[in-house]
Formats: sequence, C-alpha cells, structure tokens
Amino acid sequence: MKIYKGKSVFGGIAIGKIQVYVKGEKQVKRVKVEDTEAEILRYRRASEEAMVQLSVLYDKALQEVGEANAAIFEIHQMMLEDGDYHESIENIIHTQEVNAEYAVAQTADNFAQMFAAMEDEYMRGRVADVRDISERLLSILQGEAAEKVSVSEPVIIVADDLVPSETVLLDKDMVLSFVTVHGSRNSHTAILARTMGIPVLVGTELPLDGMLDGTQDGKTGIVDGTNGIFYVEPDEETLSRLQKAGEEEQEKKALLQTLKGKENVTLDGKSILLYANIGNIKDMATVLQNDAGGIGLFRSEFIYLEREDFPSEEEQFQIYRTVAEIMGKKRVIIRTLDIGADKQCDYFRMEREENPALGCRAIRICLTRPEIFKTQLRALFRASKYGKIAIMYPMITSVKEVQRIRENVEEVKAELTAQGIEYGEPEQGIMIETPAAAIVSDRLAKEVDFFSIGTNDLTQYLLAVDRQNPALDEFCDIHHPAVLRMIELVVENAHRAGIWAGICGELGADPELTRDFLAMGVDELSVSPGRILPLRKTIRETDVSEYRKTWQKSW
Ligand code: PEP
Ligand code: MG
Repeated sequence: MKIYKGKSVFGGIAIGKIQVYVKGEKQVKRVKVEDTEAEILRYRRASEEAMVQLSVLYDKALQEVGEANAAIFEIHQMMLEDGDYHESIENIIHTQEVNAEYAVAQTADNFAQMFAAMEDEYMRGRVADVRDISERLLSILQGEAAEKVSVSEPVIIVADDLVPSETVLLDKDMVLSFVTVHGSRNSHTAILARTMGIPVLVGTELPLDGMLDGTQDGKTGIVDGTNGIFYVEPDEETLSRLQKAGEEEQEKKALLQTLKGKENVTLDGKSILLYANIGNIKDMATVLQNDAGGIGLFRSEFIYLEREDFPSEEEQFQIYRTVAEIMGKKRVIIRTLDIGADKQCDYFRMEREENPALGCRAIRICLTRPEIFKTQLRALFRASKYGKIAIMYPMITSVKEVQRIRENVEEVKAELTAQGIEYGEPEQGIMIETPAAAIVSDRLAKEVDFFSIGTNDLTQYLLAVDRQNPALDEFCDIHHPAVLRMIELVVENAHRAGIWAGICGELGADPELTRDFLAMGVDELSVSPGRILPLRKTIRETDVSEYRKTWQKSW
C-alpha cells in the first residue's frame, strides 16, 4: 500500500480503479517566418475558432453544471480577447519574425510565470486558465483536436493537472474522483469539482515517475477527500475501514438531502433564518444546491481582489443584479468592500501600515475615499431594483460613521434621481465586529435596519488575538465568555429597538452553540453553503423552551 497526501477540494470517499491521464506534450518549434502579417492573420483565425469552441463548451457546462460554473468558459473567452495576451502574441510574431505557435507558447509561459508569482491565491489559480486557452490555440494552429480524458468505466483519474475544459468534458457518471499533482483549491477546476460533488485532491505529493506514466492503471485506489489522503493498492484493513466510512457518509448525505425544502424550525416551533456566505458569483450553485434561505454575507471585496483595477459601476451592477435575480424573493445581503488587513489590493495604493488589522480598512477606506464608495453604492442601489438586496457596512465602531455613510447614500440617491436612473430602496444594516460597536449597539440599533455579528473579527479584537497568526491558536478561545456575552448583548439591543440580528462569522456554524444562539433569540445564521443542511438538522432536533429551563450559560 502507498499513501500520498493532497489538499482536499471536496470531501467524501471514492474507491475504484485508477486511470492515469498523461497529456501529450505539445512540441512547439520556433520557426522563422517572412510574412509576419500572414502569420498574425493565421493566429487571429485560430483565436476566432477558439472562441467558437469555448461557446460550445459554455453551452455544455451550462446544461451540466449551471450558469455560475459555466462562466469559466466566458472567462476564458475574455482572457483570449484580453488586450495584453493578444498583444503579446502578435508582438512576438512581429518583432521576432516567428511562427504563431511559438508566440502562443512563449506568451503562455510568460503569463503563467506572472500569475504563479502573484501573492493572491486566486490569481495564482489563473495559471491553469492561461495554459488551457493557450493549449487550445496550439491545437487549432497545429490542426489537432483538443485533448479529452476518455473513460469507459468508473475510475479515479490521476493526472499531473487538469484544466477546466478537461474537467467539464469528463463523463460525470464515470469519474469517481480525481487526484492531481498541481492545481490550487481556488482554481476554477477545483470550483467545478466541488459542483460535481466528488472527492477531489489537488497538490498531491505523487512521485513524478512511476505514478504518472501509466504503470498504475487499473490498480485499486482510495481517495479520502475528507482527510486529504490518496491510497494506492490499499491493504485489507484500510479498504474495509474506508468502505465502511464511505457507506456511512453516503447515508448521512442522503439523509441531509431529505431536509431540502424543509423549514428551519425547532421542535417547539421557533424558526430561524439560515443564509449562505459567499465570496463570488461562482458560489451561487452551491447556495442553491444547499437550499439556502438567502445570502447573509456576500463579501464584495472579492470582486476587487480578482481584478487589477477598480471594477466599474457597470461591472458591479451586473454582478449584484445577477445574484439578486437568481435569489428572486430571497434576501441577498451584500457587504460593501472590506479591503485592508489580510485582504490587500495593490491598485488601492494604500500606505504601508504597522498594524493593518487596526488600520485603514473596510468602511474607513470608503469614508476617506468617497469616489470608490459611491461607485459601489450606485451599483448596489441600482441592482436593488432587481431583487431583495440589503446593504451591510463592515468595521463600524460608532454612530458617527453610520451618519457619514448615510450622507454618502443620500448624495448617491440624489445623483441617480437627477440622472433619471432607477434604483431600489434596500435595507441597510451594519456588521457588529468591533467591541466598540457591540458596546454601543443600543444606539446603533436606532440607526439601521439590522445587525450581523462578525464573530471572526469580534473575537480577534475582543481577545487581542491576531486572527492571521496560527501561533496564537491556543490563546484564541472562540467560546470565550466575552464573545458570547457580546453576542447576547447585541441581540438584546437589536430586539429592544425592533430590528433583527444575525451572525455571519464562522461561529454561526458551530453546532455546539446552535442551541445557545436559538435560546438567545438570534434571528439569522449565515454560514458557508455546505453547513446549511447539517445546521438545519440540528435546529429541527432542538427544543428551545426545554433547553431554556435548564440553560446553564457558560458565560
Ligand atoms: C467576521 O469578521 O466575522 C466576518 C464575517 O467578516 P470577515 O471574516 O470577512 O472579516
Ligand atoms: Mg470581519
């Protein structure tokens, strides 16, 4: 038996035959050309053909994995049309007087290197995308069909890497799992894999020879997606242990599915809202799959982090509108940008800070750079016409800040009215994630429509423990009485003022506290999509009035 470790993209257990996918290395020769104009034309035709192929892939993905995931192929189309990519290829052909194939391969290497060196994990994930579109162009230029993983029986695919177009072409009924050496958890391939709902490992420490040369084909493999382990030729004990675990997991999953469409109501009839946290429009598929009652936290800063320049009002409007339309009558709480601290964005050109977590982040940027804030507000107010959008402001510490936000909002509304642009009237709430906000939550509650408690930052600031520093884990007691007292106080103050209060930090998904949150009267829990059904189960098994009778608050 051999054991390899990998990074889990999706949990679960798969047992089956291994099929190694070895990509044919494309041989690209550097050939001198005389007529560079004709070569550029040849490249442009290949690019047009690639656009057509990507549209076909988009349609296929749309049917199989939904709009949000199909969007990858739109992104590929955008990358193909991207000025820099395009110009680089034509420039190489022109200045070096070389063939289009060489220029494409060279550009792919340059761009891949650039993305790989980026700090942002999401951007590093773009290496696979640039390789994918470049491979497609090369196949067209060389007159070959694009590569496809073909499988005829249920198998575990083992590969050096898989690009999104290979992933989407996989026969979903035949692929039990896949294990790759390269690839990041944030890559689009990983996102597609999550939607397929099969155990997947990336970044797996497979030996480069002996594993990827096809000699392992047909051997038995087990992918333990939950613990990030890949077993090759497992021994009897491991096989039967994981077979059993796999069966139990299937049973659990099937049971959870029966909760879809059911209410989040306790045995004694108390209901609570269960919403999803998302960072990206691409997360929408899992939101729907897990039957979220709404979106409780859309971290809009990811729209900024994914780009190299400020997203325009129109770009943002389209994203917010799409999410609102997908959710229909369900509430979509969009948090205004929370850049700063661990989420740095170069083009914001922020001053270096000694303590970024205590620095100019989130609402502080918005209030000091109103042009950025107002662009986002305009997009949000316009998108509010198309669904039940609510706006939420992060990192609030005082009533004064809320008043300054209101001034900006009023200016934006006046501008939109003057320009004859339609907009809605979204609910407006704030995050309670600083101790100051929690302490003055009685006053803040009179200013806004709702509170959402950000326990991640609230804990960091209350316990003076940097949430980014793993060395402080032992001092970060997430169940610390100070945190729980604050939550209770905030909920009380919200209710006294007649507004609702939810929790959108990680603590909201902690099943050990669900009964306490229900007993405190928390109105909403917003958690990652995969946690919704397990929480629904806990809620439906709880009797709050019974629990209250013997309630021993640990705080
Ligand atoms: C929080 O602080 O709890 C929160 C939800 O916001 P973020 O984790 O994005 O800072
Ligand atoms: Mg926060």
